[in-house]
Amino acid sequence: MISYIGIGSNLGDSKQTIRSALQNLNAHSSIVLESHSHFYQSKPHGPQDQPDYLNAVAKINTSLSPLHLLHALQAIENEHDRVRTKHWGPRTLDLDILVYEGQTLNTDHLTIPHPYMRERPFVIHPMYEISPDFVFDDGQSLAELVTLSPKDELNKLEPIDVL
Ligand code: AMP
Repeated sequence: MISYIGIGSNLGDSKQTIRSALQNLNAHSSIVLESHSHFYQSKPHGPQDQPDYLNAVAKINTSLSPLHLLHALQAIENEHDRVRTKHWGPRTLDLDILVYEGQTLNTDHLTIPHPYMRERPFVIHPMYEISPDFVFDDGQSLAELVTLSPKDELNKLEPIDVL
C-alpha cells in the first residue's frame, strides 16, 4: 500500500536526522522508500529563540497495516531521541502518517489523513513535489491546496545524498 510520511526535526543535526530516518524507513523489511522530497527549512512560529524546522515528505510502499506502520515510525523516532536539551523541549524527530492508500481512520491512536496536513505549507509543498497528481479521497487535489498554501517562508535546501 502507498503511504505518505511527514518528517520533521528541529533539534540537533536535523539534516542528518532526516537523512537517517529516511534510511531507517528504507531498511525496514516491510517498507520500500519510493521517493522523498527535498528538505525544507522554515522559521519556528512563536518564540524565535529555537532552531529552524526542517521538514520533508516520503512516499513509501508498505505491507504494514496503518497501526503497525505507526509503531514502526515510533520505533524510528525513539531511536533518534538521544539528543535532548536539559528541559523538555522540541523533538529530535517527528514522523506522521499523512495518508495511507484507501484508508480513512479516526480512532484514539490514529487519524488518517493527518488532520492538520492540509494547513501546513511544510507538508503540502514537499508532497506536491513528489506527487503533483495526488487527489484526496474527498476529491480535493494537492495542486489546488498548493495554490492556497503560502510558500514564502519555506526555504528548499540543495539535495543531499540519502541512500
Ligand atoms: P505527536 O507527538 O504530536 O506527533 O503525536 C503523536 C501521537 O499522535 C501518537 O501517539 C499517535 O497515536 C497520534 N496520531 C494520530 N494520528 C496520527 C497520524 N496520522 N500519524 C502519526 N501519529 C498520529
